[in-house]
Amino acid sequence: MNPIAFDNSYARLPERFYAAVAPTAVAAPRVIRLNEPLASRLGLDPDWLKGPEGVAMLSGNALPAGAASIATAYAGHQFGGFSPQLGDGRAILLGEVIDRNGRRHDIQLKGAGPTPFSRRGDGRAALGPVLREYIVSEAMAALGVPTTRALAAVLTGEAVRRETLLPGAVLTRVASSHIRIGTFQFFAARGDVEALRLLADHVIARHYPACAGEGRHLALLEAVIAAQAALVAQWMTIGFIHGVMNTDNMSIAGETIDYGPCAFMDAYHPTTVFSSIDERGRYAYANQPPIARWNLTRFAETLLPLLDDDIDKAVPIAQAALDRFDPQFQAHLIAGFRRKLGLATEEAEDVELIKALLDAMQQGEADFTLVFRRLSEAPTEEGADACRSLFGDPAAFDAWEGRWRQRLSREQASTDARREAMLHANPLFIPRNHLIEAAIEAAVERDDLGPFETLLAVLARPFEAQPGREDHARPPEMHERVLATFCGT
Ligand code: AMP
Ligand code: MG
Repeated sequence: MNPIAFDNSYARLPERFYAAVAPTAVAAPRVIRLNEPLASRLGLDPDWLKGPEGVAMLSGNALPAGAASIATAYAGHQFGGFSPQLGDGRAILLGEVIDRNGRRHDIQLKGAGPTPFSRRGDGRAALGPVLREYIVSEAMAALGVPTTRALAAVLTGEAVRRETLLPGAVLTRVASSHIRIGTFQFFAARGDVEALRLLADHVIARHYPACAGEGRHLALLEAVIAAQAALVAQWMTIGFIHGVMNTDNMSIAGETIDYGPCAFMDAYHPTTVFSSIDERGRYAYANQPPIARWNLTRFAETLLPLLDDDIDKAVPIAQAALDRFDPQFQAHLIAGFRRKLGLATEEAEDVELIKALLDAMQQGEADFTLVFRRLSEAPTEEGADACRSLFGDPAAFDAWEGRWRQRLSREQASTDARREAMLHANPLFIPRNHLIEAAIEAAVERDDLGPFETLLAVLARPFEAQPGREDHARPPEMHERVLATFCGT
């Protein structure tokens, strides 16, 4: 019996959408992590995946029956500069599976060897970035943020050369699709309107079926704008900094994708940036919403020929759609922060109340995650000391707290109900950089996967206090602080 029922809709698109390529076999594959609950949800048999055929698939050593095995073509703006051809240089799509709920997912190997899009790269991935993506993408899923997932991590038994020699690994990534804004840009850059139409219609059928019919390409543009506005607002409410919001790293399906130099903020500051390659802070925390709109503008440009035969008519149509990004983003953001503050009703002054807290946090260098968590645990004034102590200048917090208590007095919910709601809106555990670095170091330097496993277990339940795991909730000490993260390609 065929263990995986692949149905490869992307491979049925014309040949210029991809290059057929098989993974390159590795010396000594060893599965270091299999995401069994995810496998089951996808309708894949965890026991088969752990067996010899499964390991061969997850390492790229053998293709299962029905796999399509392609590297997809895409372009992209990287830090504002356009590359007309990027493509999957170290990722190979094995195929698509349909889960128990009828949803389609890509199964992709990242680090599976060179492809026609590899340029000067080796097509491989080092263990560190594979573990980082595994940890952060699974944490995001547990936090309720749309994201690609990690199905497995495999050591290859081969070294990859970066600045030094590092252990090589392959990540099996699962996504609704790997279609990006850059995929549209690839065809737009070639003036290939027929391919754009095929791609747009593929995306509508696959991700946005409600858009089908007359006027579907404008509906698609609006749907992608809405999905990105919602996604980036979620990032902002958990302190997530993507780090490389290039147009080739923006999923059309509205999932977080490409966990390179991403990081969560510890102390709140809007200009926080971790990525070692982002010298000018293009992708800093507070720049993420305008960058998302910039990326969506690039997406809208690719759709212009589909919106109207007359470009002069198409431009204002696209512009009107783009103009809805800011209000949609703001609405999601304010709703998200209202939930974090325990506000079930809406008052006009809430925006100012939120901003005042963030200002006090910035001045007091308060830990973003813990402030909200301790507010949740402190529904009455007596409980607020633990929160107060997070602020360098507690007076600013005191002034704000008074306003918040006043505002809460106009809410209907009981203190207990509010506390419960807030504890589900404000995580205790996020994948803090110093914990990720420690887990990676143990794995890379000492072949010790213990810290990685513990971190995954803690992050799988981010809203629950976990006795004995208090250390995973605290911000880094001065000497533990991680100031820069690396793409690690
Ligand atoms: P990323 O920084 O992961 O978004 O990758 C940007 C582009 O570089 C994509 O086209 C990747 O496929 C390609 N790339 C990154 N690392 C490698 C590598 N080690 N080998 C080949 N291509 C790579
Ligand atoms: Mg990428």
